[in-house]
Amino acid sequence: MTQHIHCIVSDCHYYGQGNVCKANEILVATDKFGDNQPDQLDATMASQYNAEQAGTCMATCCKSYVPKGSDMTTQDGIKKMS
Ligand code: SF4
Repeated sequence: MTQHIHCIVSDCHYYGQGNVCKANEILVATDKFGDNQPDQLDATMASQYNAEQAGTCMATCCKSYVPKGSDMTTQDGIKKMS
C-alpha cells in the first residue's frame, strides 16, 4: 500500500517537492495529544493509542512533524521515502 499525502509544511523533515509528504507513515492526532506526548510516540505505535474526538480541524495536528535539519529526525522511527 502506498500513501499519498499532500502537505504544505515546508520546514518538515518529511516535506517533499510538489507539496507531498515523503514519510512512509504519519500520525494525525488531536492538538491535546500532540501537546502532551513526546516526539518518540508517533505513527509506529499508532495502534496502541485510544482514538479521541477533536471537534474541529483546528484542533488536529500532524504528530509526525520533525523540523528539517534537526537532530530529532530518527527519534520517531518513521522512514523518509525517496
Ligand atoms: S510528516 Fe506531517 S508535517 Fe511533515 S511533511 Fe508529512 S504530513 Fe507534512
